[in-house]
Amino acid sequence: MAVATSPHVDKTDEQKDITDMVRQFADEQILPNAEHYDHEDEFPEPIVEQMRELGLFGVTIPEEFGGMGLDLTTYTMIVEELSRGWISISGIINTHFIGSYLLMKFGSEDQKQKYLPRMATGEIRAAFSLSEPELGSDVQAIKTAAKKTGDGDYEINGQKMWVTNGLRSGIVFTLVKTDPDAEQRHRGMTCFIAEKEPGVSENTGEYAGFTVPPPLKKMGYKGVESTELVFDGYRCPAENILGGEEAGLNKGFSQMMDALEVGRVNVAARGVGIAQRALELALRYSQERKTFGKQIAQHQAIQFKLADMATQIEAARLMTLRAARLKDAGERSDLEAGMAKLFASEAGRFCVEESFRIHGGYGYSKEYEIERLYRDAPLLLIGEGTSEIQRMVIGKKLLERHKI
Ligand SMILES: Cc1cc2nc3c(=O)[nH]c(=O)nc-3n(C[C@H](O)[C@H](O)[C@H](O)COP(=O)(O)OP(=O)(O)OC[C@H]3O[C@@H](n4cnc5c(N)ncnc54)[C@H](O)[C@@H]3O)c2cc1C
Repeated sequence: MAVATSPHVDKTDEQKDITDMVRQFADEQILPNAEHYDHEDEFPEPIVEQMRELGLFGVTIPEEFGGMGLDLTTYTMIVEELSRGWISISGIINTHFIGSYLLMKFGSEDQKQKYLPRMATGEIRAAFSLSEPELGSDVQAIKTAAKKTGDGDYEINGQKMWVTNGLRSGIVFTLVKTDPDAEQRHRGMTCFIAEKEPGVSENTGEYAGFTVPPPLKKMGYKGVESTELVFDGYRCPAENILGGEEAGLNKGFSQMMDALEVGRVNVAARGVGIAQRALELALRYSQERKTFGKQIAQHQAIQFKLADMATQIEAARLMTLRAARLKDAGERSDLEAGMAKLFASEAGRFCVEESFRIHGGYGYSKEYEIERLYRDAPLLLIGEGTSEIQRMVIGKKLLERHKI
C-alpha cells in the first residue's frame, strides 16, 4: 500500500537495494508470521535462519571478517525495515550489533579474529549486559564484581537483569566492577567477553558458574528472550577482557557508554519502524471503516491524527539518519543520538497510540496487528536509557557545547 512518506529519501543505490530487499523480507516473512510468534511467545527460529542466510548478522562487520562492511546509516535503514515488521526481530540483531561494535572499536586483534567471523554469519550471537536487579539508569552503581585469581583468571560473581538474547547468545559483553576502591566509580569497571553455551541454562565445564534463569515474562517484545544472568564463581580468562587486560582493565564504563551511543541511534530507528507500521495500519483501517455515512478517514479529526503521525515519522527519520551520518563521518554525535532516541521512541509510542485510537474497539482485539504494536512500543521508551535519561544526556551535552 502507498505510504505517506517516501522511504527512498536520501538513499544511495546500494542503500535502496538493501532496504528494498529487507522490506520485502519483512512483508513476506516477518509480518505474516509475527502474530503467531507473539501470541505463542515463541522464538522465531525460521525467520532468524533466513536472516542468517541474508547476512543480516554481519551488516556492519568489515568484509575482511566476512561481514558486509556497511556503515551505521545503512544499518539504521535496515533496522527501520525490520522493526516495521516486528521489533522483536530487530531485537535479535541489535545486541549482536552492539557486541560487534564493541569488538570492532575496542577489541584486540586476537579477539576480532576469534569472534567476528563467526558473528558475521550468526553462528555465535552476542548479548550485552549492564543492568542489574537494583539498577538500570544508574550504571555506575553496578555490584557484579570480578576478582583476579592466583592463576590469572578473573572470577565473576553477581546477578544481571534484563539481558536481551540472554539464553541463545554465545558471548555476553558484561560490565562488572573490578576496582571497588576506585575514587571515581566509573573508573573501576571492566567489560568482559563472557562466553557460554548458547541455549543452555546451567552451564558446566569451562563455563561452570554461569546460569541463565528462565526468561522473564513480558507485556510485549515477545519471541526474543530477556533473562537474568547469575554469575557464581564463573571463571573468565584475562584475555577475555575487552581489548585485552593491559588495555581494557577498568576501561569498561567508557567503552559501554560509547556503544550505547550507537545503540541509541539503533533504538531510534526502531521507533521510526514501529511508527511507520502504525501509520500504514491507520491509513488502511481509516479508509475501510465507515461511521456516519462516510469513511472515518473523511472526518477531519482522523485526518489530523494521520497528519500528526506522518509529520512525526518524517522528523524522527531525519533525526535518526542525521545522528547516524554524523557518527559515520567520525564527528561527535552524542547529543544528536540522544535527541534522535528521545524523539523517535516517543514518536513510536505516539503513532501507535493514535493508530490504536483510529482502530476503535478493534484496536483492543488480538485479531488486529495494532494490539501487538501497542504492547511493543513502550519498550523503546526504556531500552538504551529512558526518556528522562535522554533528557539528562541532551541537557548535559548542550551545556558542554555551549559553555560560557
Ligand atoms: C525488555 C527489556 C530489554 C532490556 N534489554 C537489556 C539488555 O539487553 N541489556 C541491559 O543491560 N539492559 C537491558 N534492559 C534494561 C534497561 O536498559 C533498563 O530497564 C533501563 O535502563 C531503565 O533502568 P531501570 O529499569 O532500572 O529503571 P530505573 O533506573 O530504576 O528508573 C526508574 C524510573 O526513574 C527514572 N529515573 C532514574 N534516574 C533518574 C534521574 N536521575 N532523573 C530523573 N529520572 C530518573 C527513570 O527514567 C524511570 O522512569 C532491558 C529492559 C527491558 C524492559
